[in-house]
Amino acid sequence: MELIDGKALAKKIREELKEEVTELRKQGIIPKLAVIMVGDDKASAVYVRNKSKACNEIGIEFEEYLKDANITQEELIALIKELNNRKDVDGILLQSPIPKGLDIREAFNTIDASKDVDGFNPINVGKLSIGEDAFISCTPYGVVKMLEAYNIPVEGKRAVIIGRSNIVGKPLIQCLLNKNATVTVCHSKTKNIDEITKQADILVAALGKPKFVTENMVKDGATVIDVGINRNEDGKLVGDVDFENVSKKASYITPVPGGVGPMTIAMLMYNVVKATKARKG
Ligand code: NAP
Repeated sequence: MELIDGKALAKKIREELKEEVTELRKQGIIPKLAVIMVGDDKASAVYVRNKSKACNEIGIEFEEYLKDANITQEELIALIKELNNRKDVDGILLQSPIPKGLDIREAFNTIDASKDVDGFNPINVGKLSIGEDAFISCTPYGVVKMLEAYNIPVEGKRAVIIGRSNIVGKPLIQCLLNKNATVTVCHSKTKNIDEITKQADILVAALGKPKFVTENMVKDGATVIDVGINRNEDGKLVGDVDFENVSKKASYITPVPGGVGPMTIAMLMYNVVKATKARKG
C-alpha cells in the first residue's frame, strides 16, 4: 500500500504557484481573491483563515467580507455584483454554508464565470460537463491532481464515487469521465452498495459518514480516495473510510487529515492564479 500524501503534493503545488505569482508581480500583475463569509459558522471561519494563509504565502492579495447573518439577499447579490465589476479582483468565493433564508444558488449564479474560482457557477459546471476548459470545483480537481501525481491509471478503469453533491460527487463524475474512466455514482438511495464498490479500481468516498467504507467493500489493490471530513466521538478528524483496515487491501489510499483537504486549498489557489492570468495576463 502506498499513501497518497496530499499534504506534500499540495505544498509542492503552492510552491510552484508562488514562483509563478512572483513572476506575475514583476510584471505588475497582482492576483486578488475576495472571500465573502456570512454569519459566524466556526468551521467556515477556520476554512477562511486557511485560505487567507495560503494566499499570503503565495503572494495573492486576500480581501475578506465578513457579513452579519442578517444581511438581505439583495445586499448579498449587490456585493457580489460590485466585486464582479472590480477590475482588481480576480476571484470571488462565497463561503458556504450561509444562513437559512438566503438563496445560495442565486448567489453562486451571480458570481461572474470568469471569477468563479470555486467552479460553482452553472457556466463552469456546464463547460466541465462538455469537456471545455472551465474552473473546476477545487475538491474534485484536487482528487484528479492526486491521481495524476501518483501516475494512477484512470482510462478504462472502473471508478465508483459515493456521494452526488454539487460540490464534490457530481463534478468528480465529469472529471473522471473526461479521463475515460467508467464511472458509477452511489448515493443514499443506492441498494447493495458494497456490490458496486467492490468492483471499483478507484473508489472515492464523499458522503460524510465516519468509517462508512469498510474492508469488505473494497477490491484488493483498489485506489481509495477519502474526501470525508468528520469528527469522531473524541473530536478527532476522521474520513469516510476505515483507514486502518482498508489500507491493508488498497494499493493507494489517502489519509485524513493530510489527504484531499490540503489539495482543495491548493487547487483554489491554482484557480485564482488561472483567473488572474486569463484576466490580466
Ligand atoms: P453532502 O452535500 O452532504 O452530500 C453527501 C452525499 O453522500 C449525498 O449525495 C448523499 O446522498 C450521499 N450519502 C449520504 N449518506 C449515504 C449513504 N449512507 N450511502 C450512500 N450515500 C450516502 O456532502 P458533501 O458536501 O459532498 O461532503 C461530503 C464529505 O466530504 C463531508 O464529510 C465533507 O465534510 C467532506 N468534504 C471535504 C472536502 C475536502 O476538502 N476534503 C471538501 C468538501 C467536502 P443523497 O444525494 O441521496 O442525499
